[in-house]
Order: sequence, then C-alpha cells, then structure tokens
Amino acid sequence: MNKDTDYAFVIEGKMALPYQYFAGAVGSKFIVALRDEKKIFGVRCDRCNKTFVPPRQTCERCFAPLTDHWVEVEPTGAVTGFTVIRYAEPYQPKEPPYVLALIKLDGADVPIAHILECGDVGKARIGMRVRAVFSEEPRDTILALSHFEEET
Ligand SMILES: [Zn+2]
Repeated sequence: MNKDTDYAFVIEGKMALPYQYFAGAVGSKFIVALRDEKKIFGVRCDRCNKTFVPPRQTCERCFAPLTDHWVEVEPTGAVTGFTVIRYAEPYQPKEPPYVLALIKLDGADVPIAHILECGDVGKARIGMRVRAVFSEEPRDTILALSHFEEET
C-alpha cells in the first residue's frame, strides 16, 4: 500500500541569507565607545546597586529603565570562568584553540564573555587578573575590544 510519503521527493540544500543586525540604542552606544574612545561603559541600577557590562536597557532584577545611567568601568578585571574552544566553526572570531572567558571588570557586577589570550590555553585560570586590549583597526562589533590579556 502506498502512502503519500512514499512519493516525497526531497532535495537538500543550503541558502545564504544576508542580514543586518541592529545592536539597539544601548548596544550601539557601547560599541561606538569601544571603537572611538577605547572605553568600556556599563549601566548602573542604583536601586539594586549593580553595574551591568555589557549594558542593557533595563535592570534584569527590578526591570528599571537604565538607558540614562551610564558608567565607565575599568579596562581591567578578573576571570570568573572560561572554556577552551577547540573546534573551528565559520562564525568564530579566530582559529581554535583559544580561550573564551567570563571576565568581571573592575567596577562591574556581572561578567562579560570575551576572548582571553594568555599564550598557552592551559594557562587560563579563574581569578586571573586581565586587561582589555583594543583593536588597532576600527571595528564595528564587540571586536573593537580585540581581546583580554593577562595583566602584568
Ligand atoms: Zn535594579
């Protein structure tokens, strides 16, 4: 007995889909400051006594609007977690292996995820003091902040 699916004719393929991503007013201001001023800004919720980097439009705890509460944080901080990227994927910012770390910047209360270059990937440690390295070339992405390196 024949079912409809016995006659299914399937051609597998892949489509390239051009797109634009709008970082939003808060994300755009954050990236422009990285690119043009080589400064790292977050937003502060005075009610919760928390500074968020990367910045967000509203406080994740009390939902207060934060778009007018910008604060600059230090380009230094500490690693709070990390993983070693060992497999290449087309969307990755660099060739593996490399360390993707969570870094709590001095003056911030939440960590930001970014690339940590520390020579050998096996040298990465929780608590390691790190410093931001900004891109020499103008970049219109988070990679305006090229990576973090161990503070000396
Ligand atoms: Zn809050």
